Amino acid sequence: MKKTSRKRPAGARETAVPCLPADACPGCGAMMRERRGLLHLPVNGEDVAAPDVPHLRCPRCHEVVLRMDQARDLRQRAFETYRRKYRLLAADEIRAIRERHGLTQAQLARLLRLGANTLSRWEAGRIVQTAAMDVLLRLVRDVPGSLDYLRRGAG
Ligand SMILES: [Zn+2]
Repeated sequence: MKKTSRKRPAGARETAVPCLPADACPGCGAMMRERRGLLHLPVNGEDVAAPDVPHLRCPRCHEVVLRMDQARDLRQRAFETYRRKYRLLAADEIRAIRERHGLTQAQLARLLRLGANTLSRWEAGRIVQTAAMDVLLRLVRDVPGSLDYLRRGAG
């Protein structure tokens, strides 16, 4: 699955966001058609199928291209499927756990041994926690004293 086009029209402005000129297939140049269907996206290393995702498909070579809004849509649907499968906390539930304990993102990230940006990405819904990390978050939420235990471990 390709998200960027290889060719850029002459004189087009350089932009950070890849764009698809005039809905032409980057593979063969035929006009792409709007479709909805099953697409796949890896989430935490697992292949997740998301149904009914809008995308552009080439009728000639069957190349699939996503516009930026469609790529966001696919990601959201794949995350929802993954969250349902493992019964994961939603992004706002993670934020609520942290806020109830009066912690900043940096403070909770340190206690859970997370990378600097991981917690903020969970809370913004840009990535999804693994099932193992979800268990840890539920322990912090549901088991009194678990934060104190983590604080002693953090030294
Ligand atoms: Zn094509």
